[in-house]
Amino acid sequence: MSTLTRHFIDNAWVDSRATRCLDVLDPYRQTRIATVTAGDPADVNDAVAAARSALAGWRDLTGERRGRFIDAIADALEARRVSLVALSSRNNGKPLTEADQDLADAIDCYRYYAGEARVLDARQGEAVATGEADMVSRRYQDPVGVAGLITPWNFPLVSSAWKIAPALAAGCTVVFKPSEVTPLPEQALAEIALETELPPGVFNLVHGDGRGVGEALTAHPGVDKLSFTGSNPVGEAVMAAAARGTRNVSLELGGNSPILVTEDADPDLAAELVLAGFAYNAGQMCSATSRLLVHESLADTLHERLDAAIADLVPGDPLDNATTLGPLINTAQYERVLGYLAAAEHEGLDAGSAPVSALPDHGYFIAPRVFRDVPTTSRLWREEIFGPILCSRRVASDDEAITLANDSAFGLAATVVAGEKDRAADIAARLQAGNVWCNTHQVAPPGLGWGGMKGSGIGRELGRAGLDAYLETRYVTLENDI
Ligand code: NAD
Repeated sequence: MSTLTRHFIDNAWVDSRATRCLDVLDPYRQTRIATVTAGDPADVNDAVAAARSALAGWRDLTGERRGRFIDAIADALEARRVSLVALSSRNNGKPLTEADQDLADAIDCYRYYAGEARVLDARQGEAVATGEADMVSRRYQDPVGVAGLITPWNFPLVSSAWKIAPALAAGCTVVFKPSEVTPLPEQALAEIALETELPPGVFNLVHGDGRGVGEALTAHPGVDKLSFTGSNPVGEAVMAAAARGTRNVSLELGGNSPILVTEDADPDLAAELVLAGFAYNAGQMCSATSRLLVHESLADTLHERLDAAIADLVPGDPLDNATTLGPLINTAQYERVLGYLAAAEHEGLDAGSAPVSALPDHGYFIAPRVFRDVPTTSRLWREEIFGPILCSRRVASDDEAITLANDSAFGLAATVVAGEKDRAADIAARLQAGNVWCNTHQVAPPGLGWGGMKGSGIGRELGRAGLDAYLETRYVTLENDI
């Protein structure tokens, strides 16, 4: 059993000032596999001081040089792939294939931003038309400064890559607080920082929870940029903390995304995409498409196919290659989803034939369920469940589907399944979501932006926008171009 009592600060393993420790669980075996220090505001101070000292040196490196460091992180992740995939699967409970996809996504992200670091230099000083004949302006982008990065537990190594890679590419230095629930895979990033000889203080990792480390990091005046992925209540607290000192903030928060299926859709493809949209990662996805809007003429067929697809899932040990459904992450999450199932019962919702595969007798497993004809006033329809639960409604037209899809406090993602590409594109054009997938699985390649409208957050990660989130823009305007 590992004991993570040290932070990684200024390229050294530093004992935590805190005495409080937290258990790290294997959600399948329901056993403690590690303990992690709960960190302390004094640890945060040390990490921010190290990041601040390193800032000028890192910022002043060429983009080419920073890009080489970031590429080296990708190489080091690749070299650890087998062990990291197993560790992530064990700590998070996700099947090996999903943990492997996570690692592939993380590696792609570091490689993409290694390229963006190089391109950034070439873009510096680009001429901008002023509209004035005797004036020219040039645009420069400078790193925001020290970045405080906070991530959740559902996509370890991925959520962190989406922040660390662009921050480093932009020339920011980093204090990273991983989720205390999945610190084991993230710890590898500190080992990699040492191995790849990142300059001291450029990347710092402080373990702990929100109370010990998260609040201290977000309140710290030495942190110029906050980037947070997690729940809405905490996101709002982070934004309030960023208000003090008017600091730059990016938020990736919750979702309650729709999947729309038209009457001419291929029912097999629809069933595949609907199932993946609410059961991948046991439904613990910010982008879960947990509200199905299906044309009334296809609803029964689709429900039948979904029942069959659910029956084919193989719940079990995430480390077993045959497993396709893992447990939820922990007791709190399990009880939260059970609470929604109790609410469904109380509301008298119809769970159809609920084909339940035999679940293991341990682990926080929830059998996927499809609730049918769910009223739009239901808690299950309106809230983020974060478990393998789908709410379905029949609709009579695309217009009705679009209206209901957009009737949400969130706007992170959406999927459209339609027979005709043009029809799917027409629907997509009217949806309020940061990412809309048409007739395809949820994909988030590093070149596209990721993020939500409305309550799903502020700003975008990935893509050029994800880099800009760590940059300030400076225009230099001259009377004549010299
Ligand atoms: P959470 O908000 O409980 O925790 C997220 C992180 O914030 C953790 O590292 C936690 O320790 C830290 N934290 C907790 N309290 C804090 C505080 N007061 N100040 C600063 N930091 C604090 O979320 P979670 O349970 O880990 O993750 C699930 C949530 O994350 C869901 O709502 C999900 O939709 C959201 N999420 C969003 C995206 C996205 O891209 N939009 C991606 C993944 C997860």
